Amino acid sequence: MDIQSLSRRFGVNAERGKGGEFPVFLESVKNRRVLLLCDLNTRPLSAPIRTAMEGAGCAVEELLFEEKEPVADEKTVLSAMQAGKRADYLLAVGAGTLNDIAKYAGFRLQKKSGVFATAPSMDGFASGVTPLIEGGRKVTYPAQVASDILIDLNVLSAAPKLMQGAGVGDILAKECCLTDWKISALLTGESYNEEAASLMREALSACEQTVPALVRGERAGVEALMDALLVSGYAMVVAGNSRPASGAEHHMSHFLEMDFLSRGKPIPLHGVKVGLGTMVSLYLYHTLSGRAGSAGCEKVVAAAKALPPVSYVEDILRSLGCPVRFAEIEVSKDTVRRMLFEAYKIRDRFTILTLYNESGLMKGAADEIMDRFYS
Ligand SMILES: [Zn+2]
Repeated sequence: MDIQSLSRRFGVNAERGKGGEFPVFLESVKNRRVLLLCDLNTRPLSAPIRTAMEGAGCAVEELLFEEKEPVADEKTVLSAMQAGKRADYLLAVGAGTLNDIAKYAGFRLQKKSGVFATAPSMDGFASGVTPLIEGGRKVTYPAQVASDILIDLNVLSAAPKLMQGAGVGDILAKECCLTDWKISALLTGESYNEEAASLMREALSACEQTVPALVRGERAGVEALMDALLVSGYAMVVAGNSRPASGAEHHMSHFLEMDFLSRGKPIPLHGVKVGLGTMVSLYLYHTLSGRAGSAGCEKVVAAAKALPPVSYVEDILRSLGCPVRFAEIEVSKDTVRRMLFEAYKIRDRFTILTLYNESGLMKGAADEIMDRFYS
């Protein structure tokens, strides 16, 4: 997997540098007005790139979200759009949320955007879609692909270990998303894109191979994980939507996210919630064949045979310090149970969760899942 040539194919400058040295990026923004988006966590990391841009003649305006963990909602998007009007380019310093805000605001303003990545925690850096919170609900909108993704391995390696684990969780999830997509193609006739799926499989195997290096805390592990996260984003670009990257486990994560928001509690990392959802999805796939009422699901049972056991994902997540039980992220039993019955309604996208709910199988599975995965 040659990440540089792949990035060029998608028109993305995925540039490696350190201490603000990103010559390709700096040349492209030279003498322009740049809006720098950061939050209280990422602001200290923005100094080198800010200094470098000013050295290249840029007029840099900073938009600081005065929170440790802002949410990509109407309020933050609006403030980014207002400040972005005065700029030629929007650069996020961050990971999931700030990147989402910058690429959506840039898309709406028809201005280029990019990200200085601060943690390898999710796969949205290179994707062309943006999940936003609207009226307390999670909605995914089209956005633009970042023009520049600036990667300083010293910064990424220094990110909290849990953020690296979350990145791995977001990639391991693809085992399930790809299977959800495949069974939807088989059962509902949804179109399936082989190229996107095989690109995603590359990301998956690159990520799986790098887990031991990540556990040992090696930089090479972080580098390979970041590459896998970028490839995952490109797979979404090829598919034209997030289908290859997001299935039942993402719907479960989104459901939980809305619960945290409604309670005004800090939201656990995307990849952490997705990792938990991935274990539930795998469990549902693997136990389907033994269930009363699963007649007619032979194609799904056959697809499940290619999936790894739950324990495979569970062991990896645990080795990286990620929660493997819902109780660990402080969500109530009642919410998790409702998630099993309601998360599939978040999007009109057929998944293993849709199958279980629409065929009445969830009633028999819910207690097992609560016993196995709650605490
Ligand atoms: Zn994700």
